[in-house]
Amino acid sequence: MKKIHQILFEHSKAVIQNSYSPYSRIRVGSTVITKEGVIFAGCNVENSSYGATICAERVALTKAISEGFRDFVAIGILSDRFEYIPPCGICRQFIEELSPKIDVYLFDSKGNYKKYKINRLLPYGFKIGD
Ligand SMILES: [Zn+2]
Repeated sequence: MKKIHQILFEHSKAVIQNSYSPYSRIRVGSTVITKEGVIFAGCNVENSSYGATICAERVALTKAISEGFRDFVAIGILSDRFEYIPPCGICRQFIEELSPKIDVYLFDSKGNYKKYKINRLLPYGFKIGD
């Protein structure tokens, strides 16, 4: 049986091929695993209107939400240019709101990883009511 980090790495590596990143030329793949064990992967999708760009993490999460899933246990992030690429601030906020206890795996190109709780990457994240 595969371990969570292997599943996250393999799916992120596969989906990275679909990255649309003609501006940054940084391809990113991300994979989330739901509480039920369902897997969703996404790549970054850039746009000439830079603000319209969507990071791989949010693509993976919005795919899962669109299919009716709301609880996530782990998310992995892989880039073909940088080792252990961290999620940007918007993605940290996005991840934390959906799953405040999620494990975030940052991979290098060989599948080695660093694992963090999201609240370590985003202490004092914004919440409704703040
Ligand atoms: Zn991001």
